[in-house]
Amino acid sequence: MDFRLGRGPPSGVLSAAPSSCYDATRNGGEAKIQNLKFKTQRHRPKLGQHFLHDPRYRARILEALPLDTGDVVIEIGPGRGAMTALLAERARKVIAIEIDRELAQGLQEEFPQGSHVEIILADVLRVDFADLCRKVGASQAFVFGNLPYYITSPILHHLFGQRESIRAMGLLMQREVAERLTAAPGTRDYGYLTIATQIYSQPQIALAVPPGAFSPAPKVQSALVTFRVQAKFDRWFQTTYDEFLEFVKRCFAQKRKNLLNNLSGIYPRRRIMQAIEEAGKPASLRAEQLSTEELAAVFEHLTRSG
Ligand code: SAM
Repeated sequence: MDFRLGRGPPSGVLSAAPSSCYDATRNGGEAKIQNLKFKTQRHRPKLGQHFLHDPRYRARILEALPLDTGDVVIEIGPGRGAMTALLAERARKVIAIEIDRELAQGLQEEFPQGSHVEIILADVLRVDFADLCRKVGASQAFVFGNLPYYITSPILHHLFGQRESIRAMGLLMQREVAERLTAAPGTRDYGYLTIATQIYSQPQIALAVPPGAFSPAPKVQSALVTFRVQAKFDRWFQTTYDEFLEFVKRCFAQKRKNLLNNLSGIYPRRRIMQAIEEAGKPASLRAEQLSTEELAAVFEHLTRSG
């Protein structure tokens, strides 16, 4: 899967040895990090740090999350803990993954060992969620994150790659991206990213969040998206999903071309026409006019008869 919106992961490997929270960036992964004062006042724009400082929005976000009291929550980028304590009040346990060493150290002081918040100093893109769940005796987790927007796409990719370990999610992201994830067929925002998300989950925009809710304020509008995580086609193996996403990429390769023309370099035109007609659609349609199920039907027809 390829979510081409972010600029790729940061280098992410941290250097010195931490001591009272768990450092997954080290080789075997479980050293502790130092329990220093939470002294970070500055923010690191390169790490996408926009802290949720408006308590009304913190409360609204919490209310909008489909959380169960028995949930283990994996929080991506807890920052200064704006949501961490609130999540901890509602869930069985919170495992918070922060890449910024100073912030992780500050949080460690706020949530000492033995509290049901565990801080992990790590790049979330390198964390194995199945492993985290196993360690706390859970089969699946709820994932929350006020995401660092510069890596929204790699994070989504990473999360869907680990979907077996995720029950549901609530992610704050740039509104424009949220609209693409949740778009309906035939609309301007509908495309590869929509389908890559909707074959693995049911996303919904739960709340619009203005720049003023954050400090510093981002230049863009934000939205909370909630996801029920469930793969769409029980009959497919992972390889089929991967092939389907490659196919979808080709279907949308040139937005102005219709589906037939986008695919005609790959399959014989006659077979493409048959496949589209079998899905109950005229062959002149563009990819964005077909639902995920209809595109899957065309894909299955073409690969079956190929
Ligand atoms: N949750 C906090 C809040 O709502 O105030 C902070 C959210 S801020 C938008 C994003 C957070 O993600 C920052 O704390 C940043 O340091 C952290 N972060 C950035 N890249 C990360 C990565 N690759 N892995 C884990 N955390 C990351």
